[in-house]
Amino acid sequence: MAFTFKGGIRLDEHKNTARSPIVPITAPSVVRIPLSQHISTACVPCVKVGDLVCKGQVIGQTQEGEGCLIHASVSGKILEISSITDAQGRQTESILIENDFEDRLSDAPAPCDKDLRTLTPEQIVEHIRLAGIFDAGTTPLPAFEKLSHAIGKADKLIVNCTECEPYVTANHRLLLEHPEQVVGGIKILLRALSLRKAYIAIEDNKRDAVKAIAKLDFDPEMIRICIMKSKYPQGDEGQIIYALTGKELPFGKPPADIGCVLFGAETCAAIYNAFAHGEPLIRRIVTVDGDGVDSPGNLLVPIGTPVSDLIRFCDGELSSINTIISGGPMRGQALCDTDSPITKDTCAILAFSKKQKRTPEKEGSCIRCGKCVESCPMQLVPRELYRRFKKNDLTGCEKYGVLSCTQCGVCSYVCPARLELTSKIGSAQTLLRSAPKKDTASPESSESERKEQS
Ligand code: SF4
Ligand code: SF4
Repeated sequence: MAFTFKGGIRLDEHKNTARSPIVPITAPSVVRIPLSQHISTACVPCVKVGDLVCKGQVIGQTQEGEGCLIHASVSGKILEISSITDAQGRQTESILIENDFEDRLSDAPAPCDKDLRTLTPEQIVEHIRLAGIFDAGTTPLPAFEKLSHAIGKADKLIVNCTECEPYVTANHRLLLEHPEQVVGGIKILLRALSLRKAYIAIEDNKRDAVKAIAKLDFDPEMIRICIMKSKYPQGDEGQIIYALTGKELPFGKPPADIGCVLFGAETCAAIYNAFAHGEPLIRRIVTVDGDGVDSPGNLLVPIGTPVSDLIRFCDGELSSINTIISGGPMRGQALCDTDSPITKDTCAILAFSKKQKRTPEKEGSCIRCGKCVESCPMQLVPRELYRRFKKNDLTGCEKYGVLSCTQCGVCSYVCPARLELTSKIGSAQTLLRSAPKKDTASPESSESERKEQS
């Protein structure tokens, strides 16, 4: 029987590109590379306007050695260092590089020519740090930070190959076309963690990917493939851990605190490529889909490529597009600029035409049907959080565990009254996180109260 978790929903999959092979696109004439591509520390530029850079050269780093290094995805000349607004609406510095199309390669990082068995965990962590690899899980973090935190604490390595958002098939294609890269990365992670076995979590709608992995020649004791029920949000860390181990991830704690560490399939492949080929993270697979493009597909894209290039490549007409989403439809961000750059965490670009434009439905009144409560994967009571937020009762929201909401969007999706549950709960979280700390009940302490009310 497939592994699963409590709550969640079945969504229409729209996996239209599951059979579309990964196609590399030509690097554009200019790339714009943001210096902050995740929630960890932002980088500062270590190049200046007019410098010539090689492909793979470090162009952004943090002073404290935290965060992901940022590398040039093309060789060329630094044209500009300026501020842009990213997909989350934050201001971030970015570096504009004019591509010279000479593909001059940086000699660092170099491939690792040592036998994996002779490497220490610290050497592996450092190699991953130098390659600027980022893990876009529920808690997006530089892969080396996640790994170093888990060394000595985690006894279960879980590789997240679920890809539960509709439309997105980038991971699925990676598993079908390059399973050896994913397994190669797993071997490196196992060595760093001093573990013998990894668990690959893969949804039951990707049986062909299971076969592709199983065909590889590896010690069967080293990898266990775990078939997960196709359900949203199966890919969330807390849900995978619960499904596989029965353990609940305490609010605000990293998985390593309960003995688990999770990495995405694309992170494993990036780690393998950094060790085998000395390749830093300068390109990624992006699914492009939606009715705004005539030829949806999976593209291998240099970081910093404008979104508009991907849409044109897939035969989309920018003037007929109404909405562009970076990521999946449930958790993705609507982009306001078609020239926004592809970043290390862009798994999909979804373009929807004006025909698909929907007038937002008016919010009705809660009919206490209980659907939001039944479906919430975090066992929260969304209707109560919404009601308390509307009454400006933030203390009540906190008591009802608002901070453990993962913003999965399930409650809004199922609500027949079309209440904007997720966005209101998100607003309550923002207000609470920005408010000065006071002595209010923790989500854990109010667990029984929440369940009682539900
Ligand atoms: S799903 Fe909507 S209508 Fe039903 S209980 Fe929740 S908030 Fe109320
Ligand atoms: S958005 Fe938050 S409250 Fe709503 S279902 Fe997801 S976890 Fe639960």
